[in-house]
Amino acid sequence: MKCEKPQVHLPDMILDPTRVPAEALQHLKECSHCAGELKELQATMQLLDAWKAPEPSPYFDTRLAVRLREARESEAPGWLERLRLHLMFGSNLHVRPAAAAAFALLIIVSGGSYLGVVSLNHTVVPPPQQTVSATVNDLELLDSSAQTLQQLASFDETNGDGGSATVSGNFSN
Ligand SMILES: [Zn+2]
Repeated sequence: MKCEKPQVHLPDMILDPTRVPAEALQHLKECSHCAGELKELQATMQLLDAWKAPEPSPYFDTRLAVRLREARESEAPGWLERLRLHLMFGSNLHVRPAAAAAFALLIIVSGGSYLGVVSLNHTVVPPPQQTVSATVNDLELLDSSAQTLQQLASFDETNGDGGSATVSGNFSN
């Protein structure tokens, strides 16, 4: 018998010898090579039994919290991301296209500086009963964006050339 087949059962010889086929046990008795392998495996397992995971250093939690805070502060969301969050979770603006249009116009006219104030006044927290998937959310957002753009377009038409220059100029920013 070749050594490969019995060696598959080497772990079981240590962990659960009752599962080892008789022929593999027989081979182990006759083959010094496989007996050596079994001894090495036993030594490794004993070493693993004795090994203990190291304890974290005393101020690990505190330092981790500081690092997390630093990482969070270093990547403050841009105003576009904040606008997205606000439209998705900030209020029910997406079901009131007129308000959304006014809001979007404010942002465009003020170049986004107004958004900081708005974000401070509204808590950006997703509603807890929200069960719709991310895809549905995105579709709703796209829909509301389309409505906003339509309203902006109609607003633009009624306001003549001056308005269009302002809006398109700021879109390219
Ligand atoms: Zn062997």
